Order: sequence, then C-alpha cells, then structure tokens
Amino acid sequence: MEKTALITGASRGIGRETAVKFWREGFRVAVNYQKSAEAAKELAAELNRLRPGSALAVQADVSKKDQVLSMVRQAEEALGPIEVLVNNAGIAQQKLFTDLTEEDWDRMFQVDVKGVFLCAQAVLPGMIRRKRGKIINISSMWGQVGASCEVHYSAAKGAVIAFTKALAQEVGPSHIQVNCVAPGVIATEMNGALPPEVLDALREETPLGVIGQPGDIAEAVWFLASPQADFITGQVLAPNGGLVL
Ligand code: NAP
Repeated sequence: MEKTALITGASRGIGRETAVKFWREGFRVAVNYQKSAEAAKELAAELNRLRPGSALAVQADVSKKDQVLSMVRQAEEALGPIEVLVNNAGIAQQKLFTDLTEEDWDRMFQVDVKGVFLCAQAVLPGMIRRKRGKIINISSMWGQVGASCEVHYSAAKGAVIAFTKALAQEVGPSHIQVNCVAPGVIATEMNGALPPEVLDALREETPLGVIGQPGDIAEAVWFLASPQADFITGQVLAPNGGLVL
C-alpha cells in the first residue's frame, strides 16, 4: 500500500532530496514550499509524470496556523492520510548576538520552532486516530552544541531537540514515533553565503573530511521513517561527518 509523506520546505536542498527519496521508496509526497512555487511545482509535475497522482506541491508558511491547516487538508484530500511528517522547513542567520534584533529572534523561533509545533499539531489528530505515524524533525548540530554568531538559530534548533523528546514520550502510547535528525554542514543554499574559506575550514575540521550532501540527510530521514527504525523514538540521529560527537 502506498503511503503519504508531507515534507516541509521541499522546494530545494535537504527537503527536496528527502521528498525524492520518499517518492523513490514508493511514497506519495506533499512538497511544501513558502515562496519557491516554480521549483516545488516543477518537482511535483516531474514526479507525477513518472507516477501519476504521486505528488502535490502545496504552499504554506509553516509559521502561520491557518496556512498549515490548509496545507494538511489539501495534502490529505489529494494524497491520503499523512503517515510521515518531515519538519524540514527552516531559516538560518549569522549575526553577532549583540546585533540581533527582536524581529530576528522572533522570526527564527516562528519558523524553526513554531513551524514544527503547528505542523505536528495539524497531523497528530489523524495519526492518533489511526494509531500510527512518524514525525521527523530537522534540527542541527548547532542545536546540540551551539554556534558562535548563531545564538538564536542554536537556541531554536535546541528547542526542536527538546520538543522531539517530549512529544515522543507523549504520543508513544499511540504508536507514533517522533525523532530528530541533526545535520552537520550540508551543501545547500542555506550555506551559500558562507565565504569559501569558512567552508574549507569546516571541511578540514570534519573528521570525514567532506561537506555533507542533501542526500546524506535524506537517507538518515528515510531510515527513521522505515520499518527498520520501528523501535526508535525520541532520538537524535546526527549525520555530521564526525564534526560534533
Ligand atoms: P535551504 O536550502 O535554505 O531550504 C530551505 C527550505 O525551507 C526551502 O524549501 C524554503 O522554501 C523552506 N522554507 C523557509 N521558510 C519557510 C516557511 N516559513 N514556510 C515554509 N517553508 C519555508 O535549507 P536547507 O539547507 O535545505 O535546510 C533544511 C533544514 O535543514 C533546515 O531546517 C535547516 O535549518 C536544517 N539544517 C541545514 C544545514 C545545512 O548545513 N544546510 C545544517 C543543519 C540543519 P521557500 O524557498 O519556498 O521559502
């Protein structure tokens, strides 16, 4: 039986790769985007061309409750009950702590934390009714150890880890698993503004000596969604090349 996954922030980067991975594994995929309509619609169209009815591009700013509820409704009407939610949509920002504005702080928490809360709350009633489901939240290694000049990002991603552990305990009795992936440095647009020498330094510091690819994270997310991970909940899987141990 085909299942449905909703992947937030799937217009590019880690989310896009994760959507493609789930699709390749036979899932129907809801490809969420906020602004990048063209990229998300192109991806869904290509997947539908290869397997009709297997994908839907769906717009929502994950920090807005009405948009999230509408996204989940549209996805379930088109593709069926959401069995897996991947909370991937996120923003990052590098700034000295003393320069952070209240708006910087609020926006970071609205997207990276409130977005996770709203999407999980929107899919959970159905999962609880069906007594099955998996939620996988994308945190960051900076949420585990903190990063200079990314205090608000680190705090938000740390909150995602605590959220994962708490929710896993609460919904475990309903046979729903909640896990987290905390990537290291991954080659996506999010890191596009980093100067090449900073990326080189991060690569050198990484024991495996490489910058990760979106596919490395998609594989970790898929593992947590697969039956092989059915006894795993409340955990943080950290594909980071050994940079943070
Ligand atoms: P990316 O290339 O910048 O892509 C971000 C995605 O999130 C885009 O699809 C974007 O869609 C979407 N998005 C942003 N704000 C949104 C909102 N309010 N509502 C809905 N969608 C929104 O980033 P990435 O590197 O793939 O990162 C994906 C996740 O991994 C993030 O949570 C990030 O914090 C985490 N992560 C990344 C790295 C890394 O090194 N790249 C490391 C650790 C963790 P639109 O363009 O349509 O807005």
